Amino acid sequence: MSFKELGLSDPILRSLEDLKHSEPSEIQKQAIPIVLSGKNIMAAAQTGTGKTGSFVLPMIELLQNQAKPYRKHVHALVLTPTRELAAQVRESVYTYGKFTSTTSAAIFGGAKIFPQKTKLKKGLDILVATPGRLLDLHNQKSVKLNQVQILVLDEADHMLDMGFIHDIKKIIALTPPDRQNLLFSATFSPEIKKLAQSLGTDLVEIAVDSPNSTVSAIKQIVYKVDKNQKSNLLSHLIHSEQWPQALVFSRTKYGSEKIAKKLNAADIHTATIHGDKTQGARTRALREFKEKDVRVLVATDVAARGIDISNLPYVVNFDMPTYPNDYIHRIGRTGRAGKAGTAISFLSIDEQKFLRGIEELIDSKIPQKIEEGFKPTDKPESRSKLKNFRSKKSGFEKRQAAKKGKGDFKKSNTGSKNRSSQNKKKGSKAKTRWKKGKGA
Ligand code: AMP
Repeated sequence: MSFKELGLSDPILRSLEDLKHSEPSEIQKQAIPIVLSGKNIMAAAQTGTGKTGSFVLPMIELLQNQAKPYRKHVHALVLTPTRELAAQVRESVYTYGKFTSTTSAAIFGGAKIFPQKTKLKKGLDILVATPGRLLDLHNQKSVKLNQVQILVLDEADHMLDMGFIHDIKKIIALTPPDRQNLLFSATFSPEIKKLAQSLGTDLVEIAVDSPNSTVSAIKQIVYKVDKNQKSNLLSHLIHSEQWPQALVFSRTKYGSEKIAKKLNAADIHTATIHGDKTQGARTRALREFKEKDVRVLVATDVAARGIDISNLPYVVNFDMPTYPNDYIHRIGRTGRAGKAGTAISFLSIDEQKFLRGIEELIDSKIPQKIEEGFKPTDKPESRSKLKNFRSKKSGFEKRQAAKKGKGDFKKSNTGSKNRSSQNKKKGSKAKTRWKKGKGA
């Protein structure tokens, strides 16, 4: 089936030709006719399957023949969890619609608000936005949502993971009830299903890969390794296997900086992308990585969501993802658009439980390997150590015990004077120490 047969018109077909997208991907084949018919959809589609085109292409088709929106109004609204994804979706709108008169913009936090207000002034066919900044701009009366005809929730599962549910509900309430709804999610948790139901009962469900399955083109390997050897193993693999590029996921911002420092010291040009970086630095790092000026990009989950890097051969989970769903999203950065890719996960002895969760979710075992020279020697925390740890009382338990003691003590009413004067003394000493500390 061709793009033409799906019902797309010449100006869009021309841009697809320019992009050398010769035939629609599976999700595009399924979604485009349904969107064009005006129906609501709930689509299970992973990143890398062409899902952006599956809603952007028919949206441009539907909107291109319509009257232009009034000042500050938008006709289609795409909500995304991150700034990077918003910018990327907007870029797709621009490239797919370059032979049409479609107007579009992306708005997101971390960037100056004034230029965004200017973009909204004339009204837009398609606005791509992160929820928080959109609400800010709406509160400042810079954007009106009561003429939205199409609402897209892209990577809805991520938006919920990031705690956007209240913002999303507020935004939905600002749009007309008869709008068309398109919901995309790589995974379908009960919360996503609830959100989908709140959009309407007539959603057409489509699934390309079964939800919660990993992209089949991706080769997955788990390397068992000691925690303190992970950086060395990473630079060893990059050097010895001559990886052209890799996207490395770290659980924390601090961790990502530490990994980058070690890789740079090993002559592997590395950049980082995480929430503590300015939007400018994040955009620059991503651009340099896409242009292949940087060999390794170390990212936290939040910063890397939805980013599309073509021909990315390796994804590394430096830390096992704590949430199994993140595994699917992380490794979906490689093996995109049918290309081969390898997803490598470093597993230290304390991370076994995370691997179990992942394997349960994807319903298969990931092959495990030990690299020569990196045989793990760390032992699991011994039971006695754990027992010891458990027997140590927490601060709360200690306070409770102390309270209990006090109560008992009052009842017996012996020696109370001594104890309270002791406490007073301690308190005054502590106070003095604090004062001294403050002065120093
Ligand atoms: P997405 O899943 O939307 O992030 O798309 C992943 C990648 O696939 C992007 O780089 C798209 O440009 C590319 N792509 C989307 N649709 C097609 C298609 N029909 N043929 C070839 N590549 C495509």
